[in-house]
Amino acid sequence: MSQEIILGVVLAVAVFFIISGYNVVPLLVLFMLGSVLYIGLQRKGLVNSSFFAEVPAGGQINFTDVGGQATAINELMEAMNFINEKDKIGHLGIRPLKGILLTGPPGTGKTLLAKAAATYTDSLFFATSGSEFVEMYAGVGAQRVRNLFRQARKKAKQQSKRRAIIFIDEIEVLGAKRGSHANHMEYDQTLNQLLVEMDGLEPENDCQILVIAATNRVDMIDAALLRPGRFDRIVQVQLPDKEGRLQILQLHTKNKPLGDDVALEAIAKDTFGFSGAHLESLANEAAIMAFREGQATISQRHFKEAIDKVMLGEKLERKPGEQELQRVAIHETGHALISELERPGSVAHVTIVPRGQAMGYMRQSPEQDSYMQTKTQLESQIRIALAGAVAEELILQEKSTGAANDIKEAIKLAKRLIACGLSELGIVDGEQSGDLVSGAVRSIIAQQEQKVKQVLSNYRLLLQQVASLLRQEENLSGEELRAYLQHFRTIA
Ligand code: ATP
Repeated sequence: MSQEIILGVVLAVAVFFIISGYNVVPLLVLFMLGSVLYIGLQRKGLVNSSFFAEVPAGGQINFTDVGGQATAINELMEAMNFINEKDKIGHLGIRPLKGILLTGPPGTGKTLLAKAAATYTDSLFFATSGSEFVEMYAGVGAQRVRNLFRQARKKAKQQSKRRAIIFIDEIEVLGAKRGSHANHMEYDQTLNQLLVEMDGLEPENDCQILVIAATNRVDMIDAALLRPGRFDRIVQVQLPDKEGRLQILQLHTKNKPLGDDVALEAIAKDTFGFSGAHLESLANEAAIMAFREGQATISQRHFKEAIDKVMLGEKLERKPGEQELQRVAIHETGHALISELERPGSVAHVTIVPRGQAMGYMRQSPEQDSYMQTKTQLESQIRIALAGAVAEELILQEKSTGAANDIKEAIKLAKRLIACGLSELGIVDGEQSGDLVSGAVRSIIAQQEQKVKQVLSNYRLLLQQVASLLRQEENLSGEELRAYLQHFRTIA
């Protein structure tokens, strides 16, 4: 605003001089040069600017707006209570924390948690990202760090806040291990400045500052930042479990009209591995699908389709030829049949409608959230991955490039088996015994492929029938597939 006033005044003065017959060109050139210099300095964070986003905390995000992160919320809340109850903890000789590091996969709610912490402590919330400090020019990053803390104090004072939370996202960019960057002098100076600023944070200061940083790569962070007295509380923000996913879905559907058939529990069950951001997008996509169809409420099928959309991307207009569609149907049916035979009830959806990079796909619903796998489970996943190509070979006499991703997946799973000491090799150092490992991968895949060939040959007729049904319908839900298999069993 002040910049607009200055511009207005300068223009008014220039007009006055022109009317009075003065030559204003040198004056205008001087003004332009000054402006260019000012903008340059502002970009580098060397003068006060809106370079760091300040988000008013009051009444915005609360801890109740963050779903499925009970442990992280408890840990963070305790740290915030140290700030809120400074006198009580002082009595016990507890030193308030200066920095909290939130670690975890992208989109799990780290920024939300930091904002909620600011609301909880009635602090000014100042957000920035590690990459904002990266500059080619020596000393600029360090200057920006100084400026950040100075601005946080100043703004907090202006708004009569006694506390400020500085949130630094992607801290690994700014706080990577010293000496690890090509341009390391500049990076090291920036990190050193952050350490200096954090060391200077005292609870007695009239504005108490807490630094909350977030990262997906805690392994990259310099040990000096992690030592007690700096980021001395590390809070893990993990992908939500089924209960957590349900809570997040409930939060993000609160403002949406849901149909009577909507069962969010079933959606939570089918979305293992989804982050909070995925679930927010899922709820949004489901609403968009209902809107496209002109529906007043969102139904379960909108949510189910939104899962595929979030996992694989938008449906493509691309129309493969008849032969290709036939092949895709056989391929996907191969995956689906083996999946149902290995674990009845496991198929959630099979389709030959291309989406994202996939010509078609079969989506499984996990039985329950699982965080480790047995040898039997890994081998079963390898068989399911290989079943598409095997089905193509069985019915169409040759495989196609459509199985490229399945093969990658099968190799990844086989390597996992070996790395965990679950293969015939027993415990091996995967890195040192390269030839041995590739031989074992080949043998695991060949063995599992043989098993799939055997099974699918026995179900050849069923494979062909389900594939032509899929070709006709384009989509089959897990329930439809199972109903058909049941029907086939009774007439066979
Ligand atoms: P990144 O590491 O990519 O910066 P992040 O962990 O900071 O991600 P957020 O920015 O907090 O993630 O989350 C992005 C969006 O996803 C939020 O605005 C919110 O809509 C949704 N979201 C993520 N996690 C949760 C959660 N636990 N509860 C509710 N909503 C969530």
